[in-house]
Amino acid sequence: MNLHGKKIAILGAGRSGVGAARLALAKGAAEVCIFDASPTATCKDATIPFIPAATEKHAHKFKADLVVISPGIEADIPWTLSFACSGAPVIGETELAYAYCCSRIIAITGTNGKTTTTALIEHILKEAGHTAIACGNYGYPLSEVVLQDPMPEFAVLEISSFQLETIINFKPEVAIWLNFAPDHMDRYKKVEDYYNAKLRLFENMGRTQVAIIREGEELPEIKPRRVGFSSVLSGGQLYYADGNIMEHGHVLMPLRGTAMEQAHNAENTMAATLACRAVGVDDAAIAKAVHSFCPPGHRCETVAEIDGVLWLNDSKSTNLHSTEAAVRSQTRPVVLLAGGKDKGLDYTAINPMLKEKARCCIVFGQIADQLEQTFSPVCPTVKVETVEQAVAAAVQQAQRGDVVLFSPGTSSFDQFTGYVQRGECFRTAVNKALNL
Ligand code: ADP
Repeated sequence: MNLHGKKIAILGAGRSGVGAARLALAKGAAEVCIFDASPTATCKDATIPFIPAATEKHAHKFKADLVVISPGIEADIPWTLSFACSGAPVIGETELAYAYCCSRIIAITGTNGKTTTTALIEHILKEAGHTAIACGNYGYPLSEVVLQDPMPEFAVLEISSFQLETIINFKPEVAIWLNFAPDHMDRYKKVEDYYNAKLRLFENMGRTQVAIIREGEELPEIKPRRVGFSSVLSGGQLYYADGNIMEHGHVLMPLRGTAMEQAHNAENTMAATLACRAVGVDDAAIAKAVHSFCPPGHRCETVAEIDGVLWLNDSKSTNLHSTEAAVRSQTRPVVLLAGGKDKGLDYTAINPMLKEKARCCIVFGQIADQLEQTFSPVCPTVKVETVEQAVAAAVQQAQRGDVVLFSPGTSSFDQFTGYVQRGECFRTAVNKALNL
């Protein structure tokens, strides 16, 4: 990609936008400007020209040669298209950075588990003596990685459907498809649109690249070499039995006593293992690193174990699929705390699992009525308004030997600024209720 002498419009003033602008400037662009539709948007880098409250008028005046959009911005809305009015191509920040990236790329997508798997792969590679950076949707734009001198050997790239929507040539060496379930129905019109965006991960890959895919996922024929894993099915290269990752009937890696023992985290570990193997890390180094790995917080994280009751904070659960996985991973009767913003998801699919594993459900937030109606036919359900009230109800309901699982199953924006604030609220409420 030759940016010399070009005018680049960057849409979105978040970290991706700033990263893309810095990269474009470093690669010789004649003029770079960040535009954001929000009047309250700010730009962290004061050296880059920035226009908040940007309108189509600004777009027409700027006359961009190339438009680079951030993941939060849709490519096909009139505002975005107005910046491409003179025929300029529209690409995402990932595609821009990819054009200059010399690091080997391991890309991770899926509805759930991306962040955990990305962090684990970075940890394994570093422990094995490589330079590696977790990036992309993980919070550190690929553009910033590309600006490092020298670039790391590996870019471990968490990539969302939003980022995949705007790729052209992007081709990772190794790609992971963790799982797929309906989500983001506030952005996509149909589930197929979300699925097709994710599927673009494999679009440019060929026989010499590796695709690591969960067994049982419905995918069309793809070109890269396919390797499978699952905690439920045993047909793939790696599978999970009795707390061990298995390969061809042999124990490859015991997970008991590690932070990755729960079934969904075992899947993340299998995917990470296959990816690290594919780039040349040996099994002993992988197993050693898995044992020292501490997963990011708010993901089935232990808050307390008191009077025989285990309290888990899974505030990062923002869709039904992650709540289902969290419930499935429990070996004790579950008191489930779920609720939050209405994202247009249907929760009936979890009912068979609740019938089997839940002692009761405590529902809160904007979707409390919907959840009460959905869950009450299969399991006793208590409706409250706030997280604090949900914790108080859980103290009443939980019995010795139970797990109280705070796995909301939807986003937090009805009552919180995000999942971190929601998780901290849960932790504080538990500590207070249990006098810890
Ligand atoms: P993402 O980055 O895709 O949102 P995270 O690692 O942040 O994934 O985890 C998000 C939620 O999904 C958490 O509630 C976590 O417990 C759950 N989760 C993690 N890994 C998996 C998996 N492999 N399958 C299903 N749920 C998972």
